[in-house]
Amino acid sequence: MNEPKSPATTNDSGVPAPSDEYSLTVGASGPTVLHDHYVVQKMQHFNRERVPERVVHAKGTGAHGFFEVTEDVTWITKASFLAEVGKRTPMFARFSTVAGEQGYADTVRDPRGFALKFYTDDGNYDLVGNNTPVFFVRDASKFQDFIHSQKRLPDTGMRDNDMQWDFWTLSPESAHQVTILMSDAGTPRTLRHMNGYSSHTFSTINAAGERFWVKFHFKTVQGRENFSDAEARAMTAEDPDFHRRDLREAIIRGDNPEWRLEMQVMPFAQAAGYRFNPFDLTKVWPHGDYPPIQVGRMVLDRNPANFFAEVEQASFSPANLVPGIGLSPDKMLMGRIFSYHDTHLHRIGPNYEQLPINAPKVAVHSYNKDAHMTFKHAGAQPVYAPNSYGGPQADTDRAADLGWPVDAGELGRYAYAKHAEDDDFGQPGTLYRDVLSDTERDHLVTNIVGHASDHVSAQVQQRVIAYWTRVDTQLGSRVAAGLGHGGGEGSRQGPVTEEAANLIASRANRA
Ligand code: NDP
Repeated sequence: MNEPKSPATTNDSGVPAPSDEYSLTVGASGPTVLHDHYVVQKMQHFNRERVPERVVHAKGTGAHGFFEVTEDVTWITKASFLAEVGKRTPMFARFSTVAGEQGYADTVRDPRGFALKFYTDDGNYDLVGNNTPVFFVRDASKFQDFIHSQKRLPDTGMRDNDMQWDFWTLSPESAHQVTILMSDAGTPRTLRHMNGYSSHTFSTINAAGERFWVKFHFKTVQGRENFSDAEARAMTAEDPDFHRRDLREAIIRGDNPEWRLEMQVMPFAQAAGYRFNPFDLTKVWPHGDYPPIQVGRMVLDRNPANFFAEVEQASFSPANLVPGIGLSPDKMLMGRIFSYHDTHLHRIGPNYEQLPINAPKVAVHSYNKDAHMTFKHAGAQPVYAPNSYGGPQADTDRAADLGWPVDAGELGRYAYAKHAEDDDFGQPGTLYRDVLSDTERDHLVTNIVGHASDHVSAQVQQRVIAYWTRVDTQLGSRVAAGLGHGGGEGSRQGPVTEEAANLIASRANRA
């Protein structure tokens, strides 16, 4: 039987290659010549294989699938992909850790990115969420500082728990997200066993022009499952690619993961009087106030055929909204609207949206043109608007911006408007007392103590105790005891120094 014949190697111009193994040299021991263009170009391409790593969410994986509408939600939005029960839209999901680099282990304690691209018949809709419903900061001006504190020190190149707790305790709005991060939810068992959240509030508009504020929740049908800290650490050593492998293998064996999309819906006029500022990314809307309604389901059923082309080059932006869905006055969201597109311009290039994984499945009629690596050209279309020669014209009704009324005010740098029950510690306290089980509470304490014992200064540890005491006094005493600063199981009051307590209070009052 004949072996199948391999194709002939070529260079990237398709010209047959002279050898797979030998450089062009002057005699067997002579010098390699520069005009060995085949080997020289092979080296040059290799040297340029990496695109810049994402500054955040560098280590990730993804899969293709579909979204299917299961309930009539036309009363909330006119978005075409949500227009009728049974409608399916192809989509791609990318999951990631946040702080680690490309080679980092999958199971470290970190929030997880939950980025979705829906290839709708109105262009691409990206929902760039996390596996947590809240975030560490509420103003985009603090994001870069927050990430710097999670990354590496400039002198040693090492991650540093002291700088993490220093930043968190000086930014008490972080308490809700840090409670979730330090709970077992900070170490999800697999990507299939975690929820995804828009976290931000968005707006929607229906065909009659009625507007709503909404939050998106993708609830895992597999059930939420987490690793304990010890299990996560063991898996970090055993298989740093565990989450990547688990998702891939589940899809190969036909165990396609599924999430149920639920939405919380707030009538537009209720935002101003709601007990929490509904645009503050550090807060949830308690389910009792706005019970989630079912919308549809998302199923991942196809692995990428090429990791670089589909996962690394996948580029998401919350600016990719479709008619029927709009923004909200969330200041983190507004920052991300600029930042995501900008980072892809740097990382992939100005035509990143022409790559197959990012390209919409509808025709593009844009006046943007040229630049590096343009692949799709507009042809003879006019290159300016307005024009008299049949060029594209904006559909100003269909694509109208979804706005909201704003109080007239002076240009300035403001904290969020404070609503009746806004404070940085209330919701994490509820999570600790009313949602977590006894075991989860115990794990939260040991996780905090383990993390804050690892190269954290005594001064910052005092603030760590004061911070957790504000979340819950019992939690504060347990953390204090664990850190060797007194307190204990029975104690209601940890030994919080006045200086630390005052510092936390003064920062929190700025909420
Ligand atoms: P509910 O009892 O209605 O909901 C509690 C939520 O907490 C559920 O969605 C549950 O997810 C989730 N949850 C359970 N364990 C954890 C954990 N270790 N880390 C993070 N989330 C967890 O309560 P409320 O809506 O009144 O909210 C109470 C608190 O629950 C909030 O302060 C917030 O900390 C947390 N929470 C609230 C969410 C919301 O959108 N309202 C969303 C997520 C958390 P599941 O149902 O999948 O188990």
